[in-house]
Amino acid sequence: MSISPTKRDKVSKKASPNKARKVQQGDQIQQQDCPPCDSLSASLARYMNNGLGQQEHVKHDLFHGLASSVKHQMLSAWRETRNKDSQYQTKQVAYLSLEFLMGRALGNALLNLELTDESREALNQYAVDLEALEGLEHDAGLGNGGLGRLAACFLDSCASMDLAVTGYGIRYEYGMFAQKIVDGYQIERPDRWLKDGNPWEVRVPNHNVTVPFFGHTESYVDKAGRRHMTWLNTQDVKAVAYDMPVPGYRNGRINTLRLWKSEATDDFDLAEFNQGDYTEAVARKNLAEQITMVLYPNDASENGKELRLRQQYFLSSASLQDLLNNWVKQNGHDFSGFANANVMQLNDTHPSVAVPELMRLLVDHYAMEWEQAWEITTSTMAYTNHTLLPEALERWPVRMFEQMLPRVLEIIYEINARYLDDVAHHWPGDSDMLNKMSIIEEGHEPHVRMAYLAIVASFSVNGVAGLHTQLLTSGLFKSFYELWPEKFNNRTNGVTPRRWLAHCNPRLAALLNKRLGLEWIRDLQHLQALNAFTEDKEMIEEWQQVKLANKRELSLMIARECGVEFSPEMMFDVQVKRIHEYKRQLLNILHVIHLYQKTLTAVSENKTQDLQPRCVLIGGKAAPGYMMAKLLIKLANNLAHMINSDPDVVPYLRVAFLPNYNVSAMEKICPATDLSQQISTAGKEASGTGNMKFMMNGALTIGTLDGANVEMLEEVGEENFFQFGLNADEVSALKPNYQPAQLIKDSPALADVMTLMESGYFNLQEPGIFDPIIASIKSPNDPWMTAADFESYRLAQVRVADAYKDRKSWTQMSIRNTACSGRFSSDVTIAGYRDDIWRA
Ligand SMILES: *Cc1c(COP(=O)(O)O)cnc(C)c1O
Repeated sequence: MSISPTKRDKVSKKASPNKARKVQQGDQIQQQDCPPCDSLSASLARYMNNGLGQQEHVKHDLFHGLASSVKHQMLSAWRETRNKDSQYQTKQVAYLSLEFLMGRALGNALLNLELTDESREALNQYAVDLEALEGLEHDAGLGNGGLGRLAACFLDSCASMDLAVTGYGIRYEYGMFAQKIVDGYQIERPDRWLKDGNPWEVRVPNHNVTVPFFGHTESYVDKAGRRHMTWLNTQDVKAVAYDMPVPGYRNGRINTLRLWKSEATDDFDLAEFNQGDYTEAVARKNLAEQITMVLYPNDASENGKELRLRQQYFLSSASLQDLLNNWVKQNGHDFSGFANANVMQLNDTHPSVAVPELMRLLVDHYAMEWEQAWEITTSTMAYTNHTLLPEALERWPVRMFEQMLPRVLEIIYEINARYLDDVAHHWPGDSDMLNKMSIIEEGHEPHVRMAYLAIVASFSVNGVAGLHTQLLTSGLFKSFYELWPEKFNNRTNGVTPRRWLAHCNPRLAALLNKRLGLEWIRDLQHLQALNAFTEDKEMIEEWQQVKLANKRELSLMIARECGVEFSPEMMFDVQVKRIHEYKRQLLNILHVIHLYQKTLTAVSENKTQDLQPRCVLIGGKAAPGYMMAKLLIKLANNLAHMINSDPDVVPYLRVAFLPNYNVSAMEKICPATDLSQQISTAGKEASGTGNMKFMMNGALTIGTLDGANVEMLEEVGEENFFQFGLNADEVSALKPNYQPAQLIKDSPALADVMTLMESGYFNLQEPGIFDPIIASIKSPNDPWMTAADFESYRLAQVRVADAYKDRKSWTQMSIRNTACSGRFSSDVTIAGYRDDIWRA
């Protein structure tokens, strides 16, 4: 099943007893769980023998024992990586992100370290299989969706490409909420992913830093007569580093994901303590610890909560202090080489307060002149934009900065004043332009525009797919593009082929290994060689068997989680992603209602032979405050219930809503999918990465010309892709005279669907609940233009159904999709960042 070991792996060999003992004395990575040991098996045995041996916990103990042993095997290579990188021989990259959607670590670590077979052997004597143990690991769900998962894929690619990249993030106590479905409604449950301990992390208190909040600023003049600012009476919070290893694919490199936890400083409120308010003072600890308590569960929507800004500043300040401390340790206060040795990549605007924070640290703490600090800042900051939705662009009330981060606000003002001089120079006498481009949005409640702050300070601003970057430079950031065209560039997203093919689809991986060798795991362009096999009978046969086996496996999960039987003989039609109007789960739902009506008609007319049986899977979480998204979940569930309980219909159509979609679920879903739905309103999805995981695993895509779909279509050719719908220009052009009522009239299929919905057929128990959905479809102001694309979508689905009937030709298209997915490896994306942005 896994990639067969050819040679003993470098990393595990290095874990000799001597080295391990040295590690134990090391100051950075301390050995935690087991004494020096030479093999996974011995290390696991020691762990198990040292426990209390409670029978009911044996599997759980085995998981922790194995994970700890694997971590232990990484320690010496981890230290070596760090020692090497701390010499600054190559550029160091800090990837700053509020989200890292890592998922489980064990299977991926074993794959990359080439320890899978050794683990199986070690587990032999316990009569437990590796997959069962892998299933016990909690997902590290420190992200919402695509943006957080991208950060995780990037970490894998950077390590695998031997790049010195450190991920900086927050160690949320509660990750992405767990979704339950009760009576068709989403219920959120807290995700206490750390409750059984995290065997991968290492707490490194010697990297603690302190992050200031509140207080006020004062100016003073130093002995040399220079004026400085200080930030006084701050409420300080301690940032404690927790490191997670990021093993490269069989190359001996172990990079670091450093996650910060907030704690009270040791001398918290001593004054209060002395006044006898001891318990009060201790209770205050909570306030500090709140900062990293919970991940905000909003995907693609701005959220002006004060605690969120605190998180952003906490991450930015702690990470920059850490970088500067490392620099000073090696180079003293000579910062002349700093910009050549460091780069900070901002994953969206979430960590963009790092811009004024770096200025503050250089100017206030290291007494640097503004100009030199600005030179350093603007040659080390790079910003990735992730969205075209205006409602997702972060703006923070100036008032909030004033209270919480007064010194930072002063610096933002200074940056803005100097930058607006440039704007005035470029557009002489144009005061409108000054207002439009100012970092401060004036008005009743002035705001800081975080994207503008990031653009002004960054030497690179990139979009995440060709179309997205084009729309950024011609729309949202047009004036900035005019001012600084050289800053803007595109880096189309990608996904790591280690997790998203080699690990999650062992059957297909084995087939690829047999036919192509192992090289594709390092260089996914090798999959192109598959194009030579599309007429190979044996290949087609084996490809189909792999898909069938994967579908059987997914069916088990769907039966368990949803109580719905998916038949592997039927087409698996899947849409899993965050629930959002722009992603148009509604379009999918309307089509399912149409299929339901079509099936009922065919049954009553005895014409079922034309129907292509299909199983439709929908899954995803809605932001807890996003009412329309939650209503869509309810509609999907009610619809599923109606359809699945009609015995006339189930031979041809089944629908399931999978609760709690996450990384581990996707690892089972994408290998088993026939048809991948990527149907966002054109111009709204920046890139999409789910689309790439499906393509890699041989699914065909039904999709709009949006995000990276455009590039996928380009790679695979239109005969292997079901394209439909308005393009981005047509969407914009239609907007002023969009008339959904007319479109509904003109489409008998859509008219029938609307009539059934409006009859209350799907909500007999709860009259009127779906009215907001019905109204949104019929609204001339519907920004997502669902009705506009319905007919085109329906016709594309007819083409899909016809194509699926010819199983051989479908399989050939499937092979071509995998063959052409090489460009969507995150290794390709990272090579672009490395060469054109980081120059690492
Ligand atoms: C890949 C992935 C996403 C992103 O999916 P899109 O379809 O690109 O929105 C979101 N969540 C999880 C768990 C993923 O694995």
